[in-house]
Amino acid sequence: MKLYNTLDKKVVDIKPLKEGRFSIYSCGPTVYFRMHIGNIRAYVNWDILHRALIYTGYKINRIMNLTDVGHMSKDEDFGEDKVEKQALEEGKDPLNISNQYIKTVLEDFATMNILSPKGNKVDPNMDLLKLEDEGWTRATSYIDQMISMIKKMQENGYTYETTQALYFDVTKLDDYNIFTNQSLEEKQEGVREEVGVDSEKKHPADFVLWMKKIGKYKDHIMHWNSPWGEGFPGWHIECSAMSTSVLGEKFDIHTGGMDHISVHHPNERAQNIGAFGHPSVQYWIHNDFLTGVEDTKISKSSGKGADLSDALDLGFDPMDVRYLFVSVNYRVQLKYTKESLEGARNARLSLISKLKSLYRESEDKGKILKDYKQNFIDELNNNLNISGALAVISDLLKSKEKPEDILNTVYDFDRVLGLNLKEEVEKKSIDIP
Ligand code: AMP
Ligand code: ZN
Repeated sequence: MKLYNTLDKKVVDIKPLKEGRFSIYSCGPTVYFRMHIGNIRAYVNWDILHRALIYTGYKINRIMNLTDVGHMSKDEDFGEDKVEKQALEEGKDPLNISNQYIKTVLEDFATMNILSPKGNKVDPNMDLLKLEDEGWTRATSYIDQMISMIKKMQENGYTYETTQALYFDVTKLDDYNIFTNQSLEEKQEGVREEVGVDSEKKHPADFVLWMKKIGKYKDHIMHWNSPWGEGFPGWHIECSAMSTSVLGEKFDIHTGGMDHISVHHPNERAQNIGAFGHPSVQYWIHNDFLTGVEDTKISKSSGKGADLSDALDLGFDPMDVRYLFVSVNYRVQLKYTKESLEGARNARLSLISKLKSLYRESEDKGKILKDYKQNFIDELNNNLNISGALAVISDLLKSKEKPEDILNTVYDFDRVLGLNLKEEVEKKSIDIP
């Protein structure tokens, strides 16, 4: 398969480290609010990648984090912890807040037919103690691994300690800004002066590995003991520690949104090099954004953006929303409007109505049409060229093949699209007089 690797700045052939098996880490949600619809687009995109790799014959070892500590508002080191802030607002403790919003993640994944990182259908009522079995790693369950990884960076000379925190020293890496090719000086100019920033911090791009429970954070509710005192981990260390402790010091694919190209992912990469002496990720793959009506980023940090319920309240089916996200390549920015949703609904209903006619005409179970399947796979292999894959379906629908074979082949393609086509076609056919 070919994918766009952000570090190579081009589409490349992706080859797994272990024959036949891809290890994948997906940056997951910070669980302090119901996911906005832009987050859902990201997870549908990576669900397609996951399903496409399974479909083309690979075994997948994938995890996704649930950030329940350390992610600060506006992604700043000295912001407010998003989970704790929400806990104070709702008068609950942080664990209740993260559990409450993890449940909404499970609900939205189930509604949108997004598979768990393990590759199973999501049960929204699953026992939260079993999240790990489904491939979800909770940051607060990996504090020991974070501490031991930070210790390695310290031993290797990549850190320094101030009264308030332990930092990663970005000047220790020659290629810290490899993602954007910005020099550290250019980067310095771009960094906003944070309110309450640590005066002992050496470079504005240095970032917190461990924040001490003192000063602004003396009342931080979530805290753990560490060689640097009571405190809590920085946001970036979570992803490095969880990905490498589960997938290994080297793994294949790391997914995330474009917003992570400038800070979060350079920091993750820096930590991996700091701890292990080499990068961990073979391919960094990023999705472009779902934009709002005014072409602004729909984001919960800048106001509480639209979530899935807005589309459902407008009468759209979750599969209309999925169709919209599935029908656009992950590297293409997508506008989220009522019109775009209507377009997706019309396309989906027209597909279902054609499949229903085929269903009525079918005489037996049908087989999978190998040539069409190969064309479909070729399009997926071409950087998930979804418009090409959908074109294969329309060619197939226009073909003179047997109705049952066409139907069965489209059902097979739906293992990748995840539009519940068989259920939609066969369930609703019962109503046909
Ligand atoms: P967050 O919970 O804010 O850390 O975001 C979770 C994931 O959604 C990250 O991988 C982000 O890059 C991604 N993301 C955030 N906003 C959008 C958006 N508007 N469109 C697509 N992906 C997004
Ligand atoms: Zn991450």
